[in-house]
Amino acid sequence: MIKQNVSRILSELPSGVKLVAAAKTRQPAEVLEAVEAGAEIIGENYIQEAERAYEIVGSRAKWHFIGHLQKNKVKKVAAMFDMIETVDSLEIARELDKRCAQAGKVMPVLIEINSGREGQKSGVFPEEAEQLIKEVSALKNIRVTGLMTMGPYCPNPEDSRPYFKATRQLFERIRNLKIPNVAIKYLSMGMSDSYKIALEEGANIVRIGSRIFA
Ligand SMILES: *Cc1c(COP(=O)(O)O)cnc(C)c1O
Repeated sequence: MIKQNVSRILSELPSGVKLVAAAKTRQPAEVLEAVEAGAEIIGENYIQEAERAYEIVGSRAKWHFIGHLQKNKVKKVAAMFDMIETVDSLEIARELDKRCAQAGKVMPVLIEINSGREGQKSGVFPEEAEQLIKEVSALKNIRVTGLMTMGPYCPNPEDSRPYFKATRQLFERIRNLKIPNVAIKYLSMGMSDSYKIALEEGANIVRIGSRIFA
């Protein structure tokens, strides 16, 4: 099933759109199956799960961190991941910069936008993004390469559209600022139920879990 799901989704995605297979709660063998079916990027929310999957998949995939980033986990995240999609504070960015410097790498990151302005959700409010990106742009070992959003949970995926549209507009506005040391090119939005809407609104990374693994 995993194999067919990955093949079908890959064949449906427009060229230039990257698939992140969101692997939370899945077994390493399932993650490997997705990779063998052609999934090139694995998205992980939890470092321990990620490490278990990495043991068997290794560098056959790229690894994106898509979970909530805690300061005490940043060292491990810096060592193993190829992109961090969920940077939402200068404090975390500074810690990540320090750990990436120690690891001798420059980490591409996305800034997570709380597009629904929800109290409990991670991400910065849209109007805070520009300031955070300017501050992060001064850090030498991380590089802002775009924006990510979840949006509020909507039982009807069509209701996600305004949040995706607003994040796309923010993406374009910030890209046009041409902030030095910042390369705004990735817009990560859309999950199993909502990725088709997200693609219509300009996403070029989609993060899909249940539609692959369920
Ligand atoms: C779980 C998760 C996804 C995938 O969700 P599905 O509905 O299973 O496709 C995407 N992004 C993030 C940040 C997630 O935690």
